[in-house]
Amino acid sequence: MWSHLCSVAVLAGMLSLNAAESEPAAAAAPGLKPGGQNHSGFSVDRTRKYEDVLRENDEWIRKNYRHKYAWEDYIALLDELKNSDRYIVCPGRDFIKTFDPKKVVVYMRHDIDIDPSTALRMAEEEHKRGLKATYYILPTARYYGEQTPTGVRRYADMDRFYRKIQALGHDIGVHNDLLSMAILWDIDPLEFQKQELDYYHANGFPVVGVVSHGSGVVLSRKLNNTWIFSEFGKKGVYDNRGVAVEYGKHSFKDFGFLYEGYRIGHNRGTSDISGFKTGREVVERLKSFQHGDRVSLLTHPIHWGEQTDKR
Ligand SMILES: [Zn+2]
Repeated sequence: MWSHLCSVAVLAGMLSLNAAESEPAAAAAPGLKPGGQNHSGFSVDRTRKYEDVLRENDEWIRKNYRHKYAWEDYIALLDELKNSDRYIVCPGRDFIKTFDPKKVVVYMRHDIDIDPSTALRMAEEEHKRGLKATYYILPTARYYGEQTPTGVRRYADMDRFYRKIQALGHDIGVHNDLLSMAILWDIDPLEFQKQELDYYHANGFPVVGVVSHGSGVVLSRKLNNTWIFSEFGKKGVYDNRGVAVEYGKHSFKDFGFLYEGYRIGHNRGTSDISGFKTGREVVERLKSFQHGDRVSLLTHPIHWGEQTDKR
């Protein structure tokens, strides 16, 4: 069993958030007003119970979505990871410092997106098999908080739910949708991220990782959430109806993170959005990786479940 597990990470030192305290941005481009003027995009709601949030969310999913891959295929994926001694399976924080040329080292990444209930179900099955993953929570998702015209009011009670995932041995991470929020709410991305990370850290979630979300708001403008981070080399200014939305100015480290999942030191990757017809093909793809490969394995809870009559 040990061969499947990563050593427990001990974080050295505190994350640097100094960049979030830099002075306000000057006008970014001629003719554009500086963006990031809304300083209350992140707030907290302490009234709504997580059971109610999830009940409504599950009902909304049931009406509007179907799981494209069979749950039994997800179980087969986990069994492959557990039963073969080829793999070392890691959450993001461990993957960045786990190297073994005799193994396939797997970064197990879950972008929760819209479906936290299935995320918990995955977390439980992984826990049964001694597997650990990182679950990335999306601030613009309806379960996260009340989405208002000027920001999000985070449901504090959902922390009880996220703690269930964490208690199963998994990590919580941030699913970055900062460009959407800058466009929709005129937030300052550094400021918002500092507020959210401060909240996580103050409430018992030692978040160190971020992965970027493929948001419709962003993609429809031919932008990409990864571009907010300088590591992706896309520094620029988006003209948001006369207001500047700047991106690519700061490293993900300036935002308070140790890693970004698309730049986590992997040489191979596969996912449930790689065009496979069945979940079983994801399993077969995993088997094709070789010793020494460092693999990003990305799955989205919404894609896995019982195959209902909507099929
Ligand atoms: Zn996503």
